[in-house]
Amino acid sequence: MKPEKSVSFITYGCKVNQFDTDKIISNLPDNFKVVTDKSLSDFCIINTCTVTDNTDNQFFKDLKKLKRDNPQIITLVTGCLAQTSPEKLNHLENIDLVVDNANKYLIPKVLSKPERYHKRIISNIFDIREFDDDFENIYENRSRAFLKVQDGCNYRCSFCIIPFARGRSRSLKEFKVIEKINRLNRLGFNEVVLTGIHLSSYGKDIGSSFEKLLNLIDKETDIPNIRLSSIDPADTSLDLIDLISSSKKICPSFHISLQSGDEEVLKNMRRRYKIEKFNELINYIRQKLPSSCIGTDVIVGFPGENNNLFNNTVNFIKNSELNYLHVFPYSDRKGTPASISKDKVDDHEKQKRSKILRELSNNMKLEFANKFKNIVIKGIKEKNNKVRTNNYIDVSVENSNVSQGSIVEVIINTVEKDKIFGTIVGPHLQ
Ligand code: SF4
Repeated sequence: MKPEKSVSFITYGCKVNQFDTDKIISNLPDNFKVVTDKSLSDFCIINTCTVTDNTDNQFFKDLKKLKRDNPQIITLVTGCLAQTSPEKLNHLENIDLVVDNANKYLIPKVLSKPERYHKRIISNIFDIREFDDDFENIYENRSRAFLKVQDGCNYRCSFCIIPFARGRSRSLKEFKVIEKINRLNRLGFNEVVLTGIHLSSYGKDIGSSFEKLLNLIDKETDIPNIRLSSIDPADTSLDLIDLISSSKKICPSFHISLQSGDEEVLKNMRRRYKIEKFNELINYIRQKLPSSCIGTDVIVGFPGENNNLFNNTVNFIKNSELNYLHVFPYSDRKGTPASISKDKVDDHEKQKRSKILRELSNNMKLEFANKFKNIVIKGIKEKNNKVRTNNYIDVSVENSNVSQGSIVEVIINTVEKDKIFGTIVGPHLQ
């Protein structure tokens, strides 16, 4: 029998990266067990993100501490930073192995025989043309399951490094998506979140479309709740909104990336839509699904964004149907067109603008929650005495014995500055 080994994980970034970590875990050799205590780990796999400078810096800081506190540990660095900037990892003594996104599937083998592999396993991510779907996920202690149905992106927004970390857009075949959702439902999950790097591109490589997929999920699965992660306004049609509004499964919760509310900034970002199109879309959502939550991403301090242009974004948001914002201060990503622009905004100004938008977002969230006070809403029971409603309101509830992941009905009682309180009033009868 092989000696038992232990492995711990650190994952940065988005749900797709979390999904990739789960995939590595589910494919570990039999003699490997996952531990959280780093001092008991033989290996630590660090799944990096490189979407901003901050995420890179956080990784370098954590790595130093990890090796200092646990000199016995063998570190294997993978993920988007390993794919886009392997040269940044070369000189670091704290790293034993590097495996990029293109070769992530090799990690279980590398762990079995680390001495057989060179320090770096790097190849061209653009060589990968098919979605790798040999994955049976394990979901422990989760209220909902995440299902990656798409990876990569064929677009080139001027600020974004992600296509170089993730490669071409590729999709999981429709019948596999249906099979996996039904399996997750049989395992007891009531909600599946569809994720991808550019979810709206689903199907373009396999003669399908996101609309077609949602239609099939609606007809051929029994899962009560489907939630969508971020979608791109350029690829979201009013027909898609019609489909979602007539579905009993798809949650009335949208995350549609805006990035800027100013036409000139949007153009410089090389986004593929105009403000008018975005506005038309969210107004239509509000009309068809009045109770839906609509959130967005905004980048502040993009090169060339002066005060006037920033104020255009603020005014657009204030007058829009949006209910919350994810705010990101712009950060240079090497190799992107925006990073060589001369007209940079200084860090202090970026922080100031971020603060303005984050405060605005908090107020928008509370205003949205207030609209649902004393109304029964359907949601999923989370751990830590929380319910996440189908329209994306996190409600703190009294200690209850309702199990995590159950579908419940909740009433919002009070909305305070940073918390929303409510009561579970019963199980939801489907
Ligand atoms: S659509 Fe633009 S921002 Fe989104 S992943 Fe693709 S290149 Fe990046």
